[in-house]
Amino acid sequence: MAKVIDKFGRPIRDLRISVTDRCNFRCTYCMPKEIFGNDYAFLPQEELLTYEEMVRIARIFASLGVDKLRITGGEPLLRKELPSLIAELTKIEGIQDIGLTTNAVLLGKYAEDLYKAGLRRLNISLDAMDPFVFGEMNGRGTQPQAILKNIELAKEMGFDIKVNMVVQKDVNVLEILPMAMHFKERGITLRFIEFMDVGNDNAWSFEKVVTKKEIFDILQSEFELEPVDADYFGEVAKRYRYKDNGVEVGFITSVSESFCSSCTRARISSDGKIYTCLFASDGFDLRELVRSGKTDEELTQALTGLWESRDDRYSDERTEETAKKRKKINMSYIGG
Ligand code: SAM
Ligand code: SF4
Ligand code: SF4
Repeated sequence: MAKVIDKFGRPIRDLRISVTDRCNFRCTYCMPKEIFGNDYAFLPQEELLTYEEMVRIARIFASLGVDKLRITGGEPLLRKELPSLIAELTKIEGIQDIGLTTNAVLLGKYAEDLYKAGLRRLNISLDAMDPFVFGEMNGRGTQPQAILKNIELAKEMGFDIKVNMVVQKDVNVLEILPMAMHFKERGITLRFIEFMDVGNDNAWSFEKVVTKKEIFDILQSEFELEPVDADYFGEVAKRYRYKDNGVEVGFITSVSESFCSSCTRARISSDGKIYTCLFASDGFDLRELVRSGKTDEELTQALTGLWESRDDRYSDERTEETAKKRKKINMSYIGG
């Protein structure tokens, strides 16, 4: 298998595909409802990549070294017949792992079909156990109970589940311990995500970030934790386990401890552009290339060239100024 490396020697291993820019939530840190209102212009169907196009692209990426795929959004479960995409992706040679990131509102409806299609890993986003706090954060008043019920259902079905919690100062810091207790008891890994300056619409500032260290100190007031070694090069989460029952917690420390030097991820936005960094200003228009009748070989060449010229390391260099001034792709297009 041809292996491609970028300007800093990083291979390409992980491809994230955003299947829609739409979402049934309006999380304040991602798609604030003041901006993503009733008149917001979402992408028309023809501007989204088709499943056929996605599978073709994923196959080409697999030939360059990608062995992990993650399906994301917007909210991926809003895209029709998602299980049929999963079923096709599982057939690609070289793909060892497929995950789905979801807010889980629609998981009760689709979990069984997704499992049958071959999906085994879910990252479910939940930011609070408190109904008011969660309802405010998701911008739709949706109650945590609805998500917790679907997490239980998916767990019983046999999915490997991780829960993601974005922590913001003065918003959900008091939720850290209740969330940790709940998921520790259920044997589910909870991952704390530092609030990031993705896109240009979420009013980010360093002051609103709760760092891994701060979260860790809060956890240590209640639990004894020990570090867990990384499983592979490029693993994003810093992992720990509770000493008493071995359940893990993780931290995604994009702001306080950047991990660009081992970043092996490429992202396809819902409108078919490739981004070699979550904080990139511009993407490479793959949809245009695919639809202009290029052969697999030509696409492989173009993607190889793109990865070989990659020198992204945004989080290593982030300042308050770059965070505010740089034009960045919206999270709802690129999906985390
Ligand atoms: N809608 C799905 C969901 O929420 O799980 C998938 C897409 S969402 C953009 C992917 C992940 O990005 C979620 O876990 C979400 O919490 C996280 N996210 C979105 N905006 C963020 C931000 N500003 N900082 C940190 N994480 C963020
Ligand atoms: Fe939707 Fe996910 Fe963004 Fe929340 S984080 S608005 S659920 S895409
Ligand atoms: Fe990768 Fe860009 Fe994030 Fe650095 S800032 S870890 S290069 S996505």
